[in-house]
Amino acid sequence: MEKRGTFKASAAALRTRNPIRELIEGLDLRSHPNKQVIPLSIGDPTIFGNLRAADVVNEAVVDAVRSGRANGYPPAVGTEVAREAVAKAANTAIEEAARVARRLSSRHTSGGPTPDKPRNGTHRDWAQTAFTSAAHYEKRDVILASGASHALDLCFSALLDPEDNVLLPSLSFPLYETICAYLGAEVRRYPLDPERGWQATGLEPGGATDRLVDERTVCIVVNNPMNPTGSVYERKHLQDIVEFAERHRLVILADEIYGGMVFHRRHADGSGPVGPLDAPPIGCLARNVPVLTVDGLAKRFLVPGWRMGWILIHDPTPDQQFSVIRRALEGLSMKILGPNSLVQAALPVILSKTSREWYEHVRTTLARQAQFAYEKLSSIRGLHVPSPPHGAMYVLVCLRNNHMSGLEFVQRLMAEESVLVLPGECFGAPPGYFRVTFCAPIDKLSEAFSRIANFCDRHLRAA
Ligand SMILES: *Cc1c(COP(=O)(O)O)cnc(C)c1O
Repeated sequence: MEKRGTFKASAAALRTRNPIRELIEGLDLRSHPNKQVIPLSIGDPTIFGNLRAADVVNEAVVDAVRSGRANGYPPAVGTEVAREAVAKAANTAIEEAARVARRLSSRHTSGGPTPDKPRNGTHRDWAQTAFTSAAHYEKRDVILASGASHALDLCFSALLDPEDNVLLPSLSFPLYETICAYLGAEVRRYPLDPERGWQATGLEPGGATDRLVDERTVCIVVNNPMNPTGSVYERKHLQDIVEFAERHRLVILADEIYGGMVFHRRHADGSGPVGPLDAPPIGCLARNVPVLTVDGLAKRFLVPGWRMGWILIHDPTPDQQFSVIRRALEGLSMKILGPNSLVQAALPVILSKTSREWYEHVRTTLARQAQFAYEKLSSIRGLHVPSPPHGAMYVLVCLRNNHMSGLEFVQRLMAEESVLVLPGECFGAPPGYFRVTFCAPIDKLSEAFSRIANFCDRHLRAA
């Protein structure tokens, strides 16, 4: 056979980059020889053993194996039973969010993020209807995927042609950009306000975010609770984002993999929790534009290795204008044939039988660690935490005075103190930020933070 010259990789593969991998591989991350490494870098809640999946969740998979009935090929979009279970769980989460909102609005009717009262109708009608969801899911609205990552890949692939563009938060989970690069789509970053809970800014007509939109803008990505900031957007801000998307007819791509991992509001002095935050799934607020919500078991159920995720399709448009995207998603799911059959078979039990106490235990454990991380890191000379974390597993820390880039800080901290954190540059942050994962138990966090404090004493001047 004739020789055809050198082998080549595809152009799409070559432009697909993972910023975390690239940045980390470029660093010299040798630890201090006499200090044990404390990894506060990767977003895997299982590595310290303090956070464990519920027994009922493990047993559900064991039962699926033992049954011998879950070894075949499931349909590409997932089994009907599993999809039904996901739809039901999503509807329950929406009802729960509405209950929280009603309770908050009846408790303090002034100032809070409550919707405007309509002119007609009694107060009681209003209280009943103000928080009714625009979304109600059925099994046909659910597509299972191999983790939220695969779900994101399906969504972006169904929406984007080369040269279309996407609005991403100015700091975000790097996979979004990796997938968009593969698809040849352009990423446009909308600004966030670090001092105000990392909320999106410039959404108003003529504002900085508003000006990013052109005729090739297809969707806006909202990650709530948010990686890498640990911020949680509440109802009022989510409504502003929905309004923005509706004004521009943009699809909302909601990454809610940390949905439900939201800590309770605290007193202003930081003492004890006072009640839940009003952070509903954004899908239940959208009445004119479609929302694709990505979610999965990885974080909330503490089983990232099981690779179970899903897409929820909410299409409130008249005449189901989104059905072409629905069909596109179904078509694309044929490429991979969905997540493994055992976890699919276990899904109904996982979603319906995990106890309230277990969720509460995880939530309070993470909340305690988050509060500890926030207090300790804020008190270190030379560091600044712009907004405290209210959810997920992360806090984003700023180096005052920017003597060092995030990259340099991470490399030297590892070399001198054997503490590993991620540079903000991995998430698109300007130089001078780093991300801390607070999954580790308090004693480990405590040791890590005193090492960070020593490091900062040596290297950073106070502002
Ligand atoms: C961890 C994470 C995911 C990925 O979830 P998998 O189900 O493990 O693929 C998606 N989005 C964000 C923001 C994450 O932090």
